[in-house]
Amino acid sequence: MSKNICVVGTGYVGLIASVGLADLGNHVIGVDKDEEKIKLLKSAKSPIYEPGVEEYLERNLNSGRLNFTTDIDMAIQESEVIYIAVGTPEGSDGSPNMSYVDNVVTSIAGNLNNYKVIVTKSTVPVGTNRGIEKQLKGMCPEKEFDVVSNPEFLREGSSVQDFFHPDRTVIGCTTERAKKEMFEVYRALNIISVPFIWCSLETAELIKYASNAFLATKITFINQMANLAEGVDADIHKIAQAMGLDGRISSKFLHPGPGYGGSCFPKDTKAVVDTGDKCGIDMSLIREVIAANELQKERIVDRMEKRMGSLESKTVTILGLAFKQRTDDIRESPSIAIVKSLLQKGAIVNAHDPKAMKNFRKLFPGINYFNDSNEACTKADAVIIATEWNEYRNIDPDRLKSEMKGEVLFDARNLLDPEIFISRGFAYLGIGR
Ligand code: NAD
Repeated sequence: MSKNICVVGTGYVGLIASVGLADLGNHVIGVDKDEEKIKLLKSAKSPIYEPGVEEYLERNLNSGRLNFTTDIDMAIQESEVIYIAVGTPEGSDGSPNMSYVDNVVTSIAGNLNNYKVIVTKSTVPVGTNRGIEKQLKGMCPEKEFDVVSNPEFLREGSSVQDFFHPDRTVIGCTTERAKKEMFEVYRALNIISVPFIWCSLETAELIKYASNAFLATKITFINQMANLAEGVDADIHKIAQAMGLDGRISSKFLHPGPGYGGSCFPKDTKAVVDTGDKCGIDMSLIREVIAANELQKERIVDRMEKRMGSLESKTVTILGLAFKQRTDDIRESPSIAIVKSLLQKGAIVNAHDPKAMKNFRKLFPGINYFNDSNEACTKADAVIIATEWNEYRNIDPDRLKSEMKGEVLFDARNLLDPEIFISRGFAYLGIGR
């Protein structure tokens, strides 16, 4: 049977959960405190760039199964299942800022008019869901509810696909009643045989952090190996290819680059270290991963400076501002660190990105933005490819050479064939080759 659901927070995670849960046949109200977002969503426009999402928005709004509001009280009262999908950004001490989640829990406490399942989708430190349970029991001792941890694993850029075909769905819960409710919510996923991991609240919370910390470690491993390959004249692509053919290793996440970014890996690795500190376990490996990733970002401009000398008054074009392709998300993007460093060294920065310039402009209003990547490179002393957008894979070497003033091309995502670009007179810099 379909459920009445509200999803609090309609950002990258909450928006996909809203349209996805509605598409599975549930009645969903998406809630956000941002009036502009709600206005856009009501007219089937997505506030973020995410491939495919507007089609799902339109279909489910038209079906009457999906609605959006800023009225959190009404949405909670009318729902049987409440998803918490608000942000948990990094706080000043490295631990997640839990104030957005806390505010939602306070709203839930004020509107528990009948049995409800409260589902945390936000990435929250171990113990948070147990704490929410305790807090609500203290605030509303007579009310019936269950708290469930259902961490999100979607990848921006392919999140619609990931919602309907996740590798696994993790559900931490403490009662049979909550388990039955969650089974109903995801009935359609059960039918298409998505593996479900039923576990405790704490285990579900730690699965999310362990997964992200592992992926960040794998990226950092290949980045460091790529740096070593540079030092000994080896080719990281062949190394990664051969490593990836080992079934125990697998080929995914073995692509060297300018360091990981995004709204999850940087903050989640820091949260793992923080959790370790709080319970007296030294997460030394993850600590090193964080430090190595910072150095990886710095290496880009350091290597350019070594190749070009002072960057003072040099024009450097950065192609790609999003933290990865197929998204407009620039949170913790390596491009931020690169642009900051270029500006500190006195460079003039030109920038291009197919989707993320609007967001980047809020952080760096003073650099030069171009809607056309060729124009962005005109008269540049150096070009850096910082995001693996497909359009940068097809850069025409002759055209680029004739447009640029200088010859330094830093392919920080290893998208191009070095031999071709070197043969056209470029000073090609890649990662690990
Ligand atoms: P986001 O910043 O894009 O969205 C959060 C939304 O919550 C915003 O629209 C904000 O206005 C809204 N909000 C905050 N407080 C609110 C309140 N009291 N009432 C109503 N709305 C409120 O964040 P996101 O990227 O969607 O991430 C959400 C959570 O999911 C985080 O914990 C994150 O770590 C986790 N997560 C994110 C991803 C990802 O790829 N973005 C993947 C997996 C997990």
